[in-house]
Amino acid sequence: MLTTSFLNSRQISNETIRPFNKSSFSYGAPIFLENTINSHHGDADSASHLALKAVFLDRDGILNYDREDYVKSPEEFEALPQIGGPLRRIRENEFLIVIVTNQSAIGRGLTTHELVREIHDKMRKELEKQGASVDAIYYCPHTPEDHCDCRKPQPGLILRATKELGINLKESWLIGDKESDVEAARRAGCRAIIVPANDDGLEIGVRKILANEV
Ligand SMILES: [Mg+2]
Ligand SMILES: [Zn+2]
Repeated sequence: MLTTSFLNSRQISNETIRPFNKSSFSYGAPIFLENTINSHHGDADSASHLALKAVFLDRDGILNYDREDYVKSPEEFEALPQIGGPLRRIRENEFLIVIVTNQSAIGRGLTTHELVREIHDKMRKELEKQGASVDAIYYCPHTPEDHCDCRKPQPGLILRATKELGINLKESWLIGDKESDVEAARRAGCRAIIVPANDDGLEIGVRKILANEV
């Protein structure tokens, strides 16, 4: 059972970068984790009894305005209005909030890991202003040509979070704005809701999840 102290623990921001199953990537590319929860690692087998449920969120189009030319810098990151309320309701219902986001602009040479971390610092501040926060951020820096295991629709980001945070996928959801988000969730084994981008999709998604909870 998820304890309140766990939910409220704010060990911000031990953002770490860890190698991820290097052998599965052509050039040993890591998966990137920015983790703010007091993570209690279980392996996949021991995770099931922890039964933490999560809402996985796509980032661009769900939490901030997506851009045709990618969000490449903090200046280009613009949080959507009124995301604080739905994020708080997710938390109040004892879900972890985990961002899973494709950031191929890194692999394309349009931005860098450092800038992405700065973007996420800005995002956390914006969320804080709206009275909300997220527990962890996982992003894929690869391009489609890298054929990695983590770029959605591949399920790698979700599976990595599931293993590291002790998430029960059957109790979990994903909210995204693309078919690739839904497909990643399907492959990982959690439910998904597709919503309009750059609008009140988060609110719509959260309402659907909580309607299903009761
Ligand atoms: Mg999106
Ligand atoms: Zn990847």
